[in-house]
Amino acid sequence: MPELPETTVISQDVAALAAGREVLRAEVFRPDVTNVEMQEFPRRLVGRKLLGTGRRGKIIVLDFGDVVGIVHLVISGRVLRLPEWQEPDRMNTAVLEFDGGLVLAFTRLWLGYFDLYEFGEEENHPLISRLGPDPFSEEFTVDYLTRAFGRKANIKGLLLDQSVVAGLGNIYVDEVLFAAGVHPTRRANTLTPEETKKVHAATRDILSRAIDLRGTTFDSYHDAFGETGQYQHQLQVFTREGEPCPRCGTTIEKTRVAGRGTHACPTCQPL
Ligand SMILES: [Zn+2]
Repeated sequence: MPELPETTVISQDVAALAAGREVLRAEVFRPDVTNVEMQEFPRRLVGRKLLGTGRRGKIIVLDFGDVVGIVHLVISGRVLRLPEWQEPDRMNTAVLEFDGGLVLAFTRLWLGYFDLYEFGEEENHPLISRLGPDPFSEEFTVDYLTRAFGRKANIKGLLLDQSVVAGLGNIYVDEVLFAAGVHPTRRANTLTPEETKKVHAATRDILSRAIDLRGTTFDSYHDAFGETGQYQHQLQVFTREGEPCPRCGTTIEKTRVAGRGTHACPTCQPL
């Protein structure tokens, strides 16, 4: 599933390809891909220019001026450049043609969607309205995390909660907790101030480096140019169960925490 770094890369790719271009055609394959009527989808987009793109948590935001596109790729969605216009189908769930012959398909939105909102109304989107601070925002401070961690819930579950921090998912939470030396099952309210500081720093550091390396590909993720990311080669614990810890040599363990496969070094992340 694309997390913050992958969503950032795709969003920047879409801007590089399509910003400043006018939409000539737009269609979705099924009514449940979007929040507007299927016929309304082209009516709202055709004739508008893509002014820019952004990201809210793991959601891509497309700025068409008076209209805002909210794209959630969820598990296996991708953005692909097609050689020419083709009607949307099960794979190419939403297709947009821009001037200059650029055709972008938002593929495999089986659980994802391409919603349209009036400018400003996107704050009412059910996911966006519940998002916590972005890790790169000014609100994301050590003090904020200290307050957010004042609960008995396990630290991994809290970091996965999009209302606590926007954009982290299973891969990067495991990597952040390893970098901070904090076991994923620790209760958040037992973290020392030093540990909270380390979680804060590791979150920004790991996400920035993952963006620089254009994300992590270990399943289906590719950028909008069809290329894989490179951060999978930097992963310290995620998908490395049974391998020696890169820091101390202890075997990395995989367990289930917060309902998710979780990787940790029992020595570097003591309980
Ligand atoms: Zn270790």
